[in-house]
This record gives sequence, structure tokens and C-alpha cells, in this order.
Amino acid sequence: MTPSSDLSAGEPLLLLSNTARRQVQFWLAGSMLAISVLVLVLIAPYAGHSLTNLVVVLPAYAAAVLVIELVTSTLLLALFYVQRSRAILVLAAGYLFSGTLVAPWVLTFPGVFSSLGIDEGIQSAAAFAALKRLGFPLFILAYAVLPDRQLARRWVTFWITAAVASVLAFIAMASWLILADDSGLRLSSAFMTDAFTPGLLWRAIPALAIALYLAGIVALAARRRTILDLWLVVVLGTLLIEIIQISYLGAGVRMSLGWWAGRLYGLISASIILVVMLSETIAVYARLSRATAAERRARQNRLTAMEALSATIAHEVNQPLGSMVTNANAGLRWLDKPQPALDEARAAMRRIVEEGHRANKVVSSIRTMFMKGTRERTPLDLNLLIEQVVKQAGPEARLGHGAVTLDLDCQAPFVIGNAIQLQQVVANLIDNALEAMRPVPARQRRLRIATRASEHNEVVVSIEDTGPGLDPATLDRIFEPFFTTKADGMGMGLMFCRSTIEAHGGRLWTSPHTPQGAVFAFSLPTTLQSLMAQEDSA
Ligand code: ADP
Repeated sequence: MTPSSDLSAGEPLLLLSNTARRQVQFWLAGSMLAISVLVLVLIAPYAGHSLTNLVVVLPAYAAAVLVIELVTSTLLLALFYVQRSRAILVLAAGYLFSGTLVAPWVLTFPGVFSSLGIDEGIQSAAAFAALKRLGFPLFILAYAVLPDRQLARRWVTFWITAAVASVLAFIAMASWLILADDSGLRLSSAFMTDAFTPGLLWRAIPALAIALYLAGIVALAARRRTILDLWLVVVLGTLLIEIIQISYLGAGVRMSLGWWAGRLYGLISASIILVVMLSETIAVYARLSRATAAERRARQNRLTAMEALSATIAHEVNQPLGSMVTNANAGLRWLDKPQPALDEARAAMRRIVEEGHRANKVVSSIRTMFMKGTRERTPLDLNLLIEQVVKQAGPEARLGHGAVTLDLDCQAPFVIGNAIQLQQVVANLIDNALEAMRPVPARQRRLRIATRASEHNEVVVSIEDTGPGLDPATLDRIFEPFFTTKADGMGMGLMFCRSTIEAHGGRLWTSPHTPQGAVFAFSLPTTLQSLMAQEDSA
């Protein structure tokens, strides 16, 4: 494969939300959960031990969780901006919800900010914690079960603003209700019996939260296979351990060792997606820059090839021109003599005509490659175009006993292009395939032409043969102008095919065909993608 064939259009955009999880990620996530469970078991006997003096650490803990969750939410919103997946927007809203709720929780936590005169009674912090604990898994559940629809590009900013505004408005309203309740109505007085001991209502929260976490884990495991999904399972797993630490091992008693261990799990859980996103972003960025470098090299090679082509054309045309000037001068000299030598002059004129024809041949052979009307583009049915070319080329007759298969996807949408040029491309590739199969015994000759609609709004055409395949030693050169291994070849076909397909916004690449032979494939954007590209550039 050539460097640019690695970048074939069949390759999707590499994003965290659609990159398949790898085995190593799976083991990493599994070990992290295993270590968390081990620590849980080790701490269990001491979970009830009180650590009240650590209350001063709480603002730092809250600040860390708040910043981490808000940064995660921002990164997820950025991911949504690129990918426009509804599920990612819901997840970003979930992190915003969870992160923002940390502020009222810590501000109302009894005794933490009392030196600043903030003391909101004993129920509020527990009510905020309950909201966070039940709300966040609901967002993850929604992320896991929502059909992954892409939202329209032009509404992306609107959806981001709407999601952020709704989450903030909801939290503002909930805060107002909770604070009003705590200072006057006391509907939720069952949350805490005193500043440290939970009441009856609070006991129902962990059970409900555990049910939601488990439902989330099941939904994530059932539906998807991406890195993000895998790590969200770990997030829910650590949250599950956190609630077990806090509510059961620490008996829900604030500032106990179990409670603090749970907080630590909360911090780890909050950081998981951030760390994964940052590390994956760097990995994806590295892959992208490698691909861009390969693409740049390929483009540079093609530029060099074009320079070589122009030099060769200049050389091919200059030769007959030089010869014509020499012969014309000779003719004039023969005629200028006192006794004009008419026969010699006539011979010189004849040579001029011959050279003129030679130059004309060079120019017209190049002109057929870059024919007139190449700018004219119309919507085209590639299946129909291929059928027409195959009919004209009559490959069956040239294959002898070999078989020709047309595997055309009737769902393939239209593409925008120049019919004559694209016919020429398909005809060239079929010609090459037939030529390549000449040395193969007739019964083993198989030509397969297939089309398929790819999920990236493209139609991919592939032409497969069972010839000797591409020689790795010359693989890098087959797209160069005038490179040929055939005695009567011109070496312009593949160069023409690639530049035509790229001028249509597509790609052309090669790959080996198993068990033997070569595949030449190209992709072309569909009418829909062409319209979207126009819309973007407008
Ligand atoms: P030409 O057909 O005039 O040689 P091309 O640019 O079409 O020029 O092809 C360049 C070279 O690429 C060919 O000479 C051949 O060596 C190689 N090639 C092209 N198609 C195939 C194929 N299907 N199988 C094997 N080699 C091929």
C-alpha cells in the first residue's frame, strides 16, 4: 500500500466516543476495579473510625471535584461540537450537573464555612448530595440507552447553550427550594438527625443510587464497545464502591474513615474520564499527525511527479520542434542557392511535416487524459456508469474462460462528477486488471467490480483481479507518470486515475487481493456530502 492508501476514505474520524476499546484498556479498567474492591475490603474493619478533625480538608476536596468535573464536561462538549452525538451531549450535561452541585453541597456542609457566617442548617448538604448521587447515574443511563443520533451541524451551538442553561437553571431552582426548605418548611428533615448522623430518608438514597449504578453498568455493557463506554463502567463501579464505603461501611456517619475513603473514590471516579480523555486525545492527535505527515509526503511526491511530467512533455514536444526549425533552415538554404535544390528542399519540408505530426501525437495523447469539459459535473449513478463501461470494454471476451462479477450496491447514492472522466478511470482500472491477468491460466482469471455505500456519505468502488498482484518493489512508483512495466505501456493511466479521483474530492488506493491479485479502489463523495461541504464553505 502507498502511504496515502493508509488514509483511505473508508477510515472513520478517530474520536474517543467511536474508537473501539482495545484489549489493554480492558485489562487496565478491570485491574482498577479489582484494586478498588481490594482497598474496600482492607478498609472495612476500620470504616467506623471517626476522623472529625479532617473537616478542614473538605473545601479542597470539593474544589478538586468541581474543577475536574467541569473540565470533563467542557471536553465532552468539545467532543460533541465535533461529533454532534446526542448521547455525548447528555453525558457532558451530566458532568456539568454533578460538578456544579458540589458548590452548594460544600457551602452548606455543616461547620465547613461557619467561620464565614455560612450555616444553612443540617439538611441542605445531604439534600444536595442526594440530588448529585441520583442525578448523575440518570445522565449516564440516558447516555447509554439513547439511540446515537447525530444532530444537525447548524444547531450545535444552540444545543450546547440549551444544555448548559437548563442544567444551571435546574440547579439554581433546586438550590433555592432546598435552602428554603431547610430554613423554614423542613420537609426534608428526615435527611439528617444531626450534623453527622443520617436520618431515615437518607438511608433510602444509597439503595436507590446502587440500583441506578447497576442499571447504568448493565446498559453500558449491553450497548456499546467504545473506550468511553468501558471507562464509564469503571466510573459507575467506583461510585458504587464509594456509596458502599460511605453509607454501609461508614454507616453513613460523616467524617468516619469509611466516609473519607468513599470521598477518595469519588475523587478518583470524577477524574477517570478526564484522564482517559486527555490520554486518548494525545494518542489520537499523534495518529492524526502521523497520517497528515504521510499525506503531505504523498502530496509532495505527486507534485514532484507533476514536475517530472511537465519536464517530460516539454522534452517530448521540444524535440520535434527543434528538428522542424533545423529542417526549415536547411530548406531555406537549399532554396536560396543560385540554383535552388528543389528535391533537397522538398525532403526537408517532408521531414518538417513528419515532425509536426509527431508533436501533434504527443499533445493529443496528453489532451485525451485531461479532456475538454472536465469541469462539467452532474449527479451520477456510479452503478449505471460501471455497467456502461463494462458493456463497452467487453471484459468477458478478453478473459477467455475467466469470470466477471458485478457486485453493485443498489442502495449506493448518487455522486457528483464528470461522467466522461469517471468512465475513463473505471475503463483504465478494468484494462489494467485484464492486462495483469494475461499470464494467469484462463480458468483462474476473476474480475470483480463492486460498489458500496460507506457510512461516511461516500460510494466506494473496487476493482479486484486475480493477476500476479502488485510488486512491492515498484508499489511506490505505479502512480508516477511514465512508470510502466509493459512493453507497450505509456505509464499514464494510474496517474490520471488518481488525479481525477482526487479532483473529485475522493481517494484512490490499492491493496492486495487474497489469495492472489490486486485491488484498486476509489471513493467518491455522495451528492449529500458534496452539498454539506458546499454549505460548510459558504
Ligand atoms: P500502463 O498501464 O501504461 O503501464 P498505468 O499507470 O496504468 O500504466 O500502470 C502502471 C503500472 O502499474 C503497470 O505497468 C503495472 O506494472 C502496474 N499495475 C497497474 N494495474 C495493475 C494490476 N491490476 N495488477 C498488477 N499491476 C498493475
